[in-house]
Order: sequence, then C-alpha cells, then structure tokens
Amino acid sequence: MKYIVILGSTGSIGTNTLDIVAKFPDQFRVAGLTAGSNVDKLEEQIRTFKPEAVALSDPKAAETLRARCRGQAVRILSGVEGLSDIARLPRADLVISAIVGGAGLVPTLAAIQAGKQVALANKEPMVMAGRLMQEEARKRGVKIFPVDSEHSAIFQSMEGHRREDIQRLILTASGGPLWDMPLEEMRHVKPKQALKHPNWKMGAKITIDSATLMNKGLEVVEARWLFDIPASQIGVIVHRESIIHSLVEYRDGSVMAQLGLPDMRTPISYAMQYPERLPLGQPPLDLAAIGKFTFHRPDHERFPCLGLGYESLKLGGTMPATLNAANEVAVAAYLEERIGFLDIAAVIRGTMDAHQRREVATLEDALDADRWAREKAGELVRARTLHSA
Ligand code: NAD
Ligand code: MG
Repeated sequence: MKYIVILGSTGSIGTNTLDIVAKFPDQFRVAGLTAGSNVDKLEEQIRTFKPEAVALSDPKAAETLRARCRGQAVRILSGVEGLSDIARLPRADLVISAIVGGAGLVPTLAAIQAGKQVALANKEPMVMAGRLMQEEARKRGVKIFPVDSEHSAIFQSMEGHRREDIQRLILTASGGPLWDMPLEEMRHVKPKQALKHPNWKMGAKITIDSATLMNKGLEVVEARWLFDIPASQIGVIVHRESIIHSLVEYRDGSVMAQLGLPDMRTPISYAMQYPERLPLGQPPLDLAAIGKFTFHRPDHERFPCLGLGYESLKLGGTMPATLNAANEVAVAAYLEERIGFLDIAAVIRGTMDAHQRREVATLEDALDADRWAREKAGELVRARTLHSA
C-alpha cells in the first residue's frame, strides 16, 4: 500500500490522479490533499477518499471547509505553511505535485526536503529553481518521476539505455489550438477560442501556454533539469496528433519513442507505481484508424514564446524564473481580456529585457526573482491596457 499526497487535488491532474486511486484501492491510499480555494470539490474528495489532513491556500476557504467538515476526522490547514505541512505528512510515501504555477515551488520543495518521492506534473517550479530542486533531491535520495507526458515519454525511452549514449531529446508539441491561424488573426483571438485544445483537456493556464507554445518553452527548461541534458541537445517538433509523446535519439542513430492515446492517466500512473504498469483499460491504439502522423518545424515567428524559453535557459540564473512569472501574469491578464493574445509574448520579452540576472543559490533567490518579475510584468500589462483603451 502506497500512501499519497496530492498537491492541487481539485485540478485536472489532481482529479485524474484520484481516478487512478479509486480504480486501484489495493495499491493507493490518500494521506493528504491540497487545493487553492475550491471548497466544494475538496469537501467531496474528503468524503470519498478520507485523507487524514488537507490544506487550502486560501485561509477564508479553509474556514468554510472547517465549518462544513465538523465531526469528521480530518485536519484542515491553510496557507503556504499548511500546504507544506501536507507535503511533509509522515505517513506519505509519494507526493503528486499538481498545483499550477510558481505557487507549487515551496510545497514541492518541502516534499523533497522531507525525503518524499515526487511525481512532478507542476513544471513551473522546475523552471524557476531546477538546479536547486535536483540538488535537494540528490542530497536526500529522492526520485522525481516526471508526469508531464513528454518527459514521461523521454523517461520511458531512456529505460534500459546508457545516458552517455544519448545524443538528443526530441520533445513533441501538439501545436495547440492556434497552430494554423495567421498572425493577424492571432492578434484578436479571444480566450474562448484559445482555450479549445484539440487533443488534451487541461487547466486554463496550461491550455493558453499550449496556444502560445510557451508550454513547450517551459518543457525545454523542465527537460534540462529533469534529465541533466544541455539545451543544445533538446529539440522540439510539432506533431499534431499527440500520439508520439516524445523521443530520445542515441548516438548509433537509433531513436526510441513512447506512443499512446492522449490520456494523462498513463504518465500519471507510471509515475505513481514505477516500474509497474497499471491496467488502465483504455481503448487500444488503432494506428490504422489514425492513418498517418504529421510533423512540422516550430514556427518561431508566430510563436516567439518557445524561443524565449530557450533564451531564458541560455541566460540562466534567475532568468527562467523571470520568464515563468511574467508568463503567469500575462496569461492571467489575457484570460481576463485585459491584454491581447500577442501581448503575452511582448510582456514576457519586456520583463526579461528589464531583468538583472542573478544566480539562484537559494530558494529566496528564486522567490525574489519571481516577485520582481510579477511586479514588472504587471506594470507592462497596465501600460498595454492603457494603450488599447
Ligand atoms: P488546474 O488549474 O486544473 O489545477 C490546479 C490545481 O492547483 C487546483 O487544485 C488548484 O486548486 C490548485 N491551485 C491553483 N492555484 C493555487 C495556489 N495559488 N496555491 C495552491 N494551490 C493552487 O491545473 P492542471 O491542468 O491540473 O495543471 C497542474 C500542473 O500540471 C501545471 O503545472 C501544469 O503545467 C501541469 N501539467 C498539466 C497537464 C494536464 O493535462 N492538465 C499536463 C502536463 C502538465
Ligand atoms: Mg506536456
């Protein structure tokens, strides 16, 4: 029996994880859950999965939940400290890190420092402080299993091979909902349309990241730290069908890939029960019905965010944390229709240009850069809002 904690249990990855727990009750039990402010869903999850403790980052929401759960044997914590306490629950063996954005950094690091195995969906902390997270993990013998489908594919394609034989990692990208849209139309594209992902059903932030290709930019940085491979050996190819989840090229010319239907429960369950493969009961992959796979080079002109991801990695230090924070602010502003779609990249570019890069030696360094970049990006958003008003 494996006791798990889910950070971000009410989200898309969180609920998919709980689907797996419900399907395999002999393998998993829930020790703790956390969410941002979704009281209704967390309350329902408490009733079904009976965790010993939960946390909401919003203290007011935690108050409401306490009132509703009176008489139930569950401890209810709040704030960042509360999230971190759940990540460190003594009973937990594995922490599924599935909060969205930089908000996951502190609790995910807390899990690592408490010696928990980590299944990592929340890519933003790896972007902000990848070196630090890996150093902490190494010190404590913690394994970080990738959940992101591309990184899970790479992890699987590396099994049984020697890492010194690796020539290149090739991340596949679906191209997102706007892949075929001319630049002029992109300027006016509304969130409703940008939120229509062709292959994956995910939270709003990552769906917009897929539309800008920033998701791939973040994933390049994530791959850099997860696999300790320099950016010059990480490539990206657009594969619209999202069946090949990524590839690893070896120096003898051999290329290993992992394929499957786009269903996050495959990489989640692999990270949860590695190296066992759980019988998920999905429909078989019908390659004849799919007929053909297509591939395209990324278009850096219409999708500058991918290049910004590479650039942040090249500049290093606090630059990836700056990129990430500026992106979070810009995406939130776009979702609120305060800026246009193309402004997202412009706000990130402007924030990176204004940033004085420093080394990330401590958690505080990453958090400082994050705070600074959010403020700067906020200014740039306001300037753009005024312009268009
Ligand atoms: P989501 O928006 O559906 O869920 C986010 C979860 O985090 C929710 O439980 C929410 O309550 C919680 N949360 C939000 N803000 C918070 C805060 N400030 N403090 C504490 N908790 C907070 O997001 P998602 O699509 O499940 O994505 C989660 C992470 O996994 C992201 O980093 C994303 O990039 C990554 N990821 C997701 C998918 C996917 O298929 N959804 C695939 C690959 C990677
Ligand atoms: Mg991915």
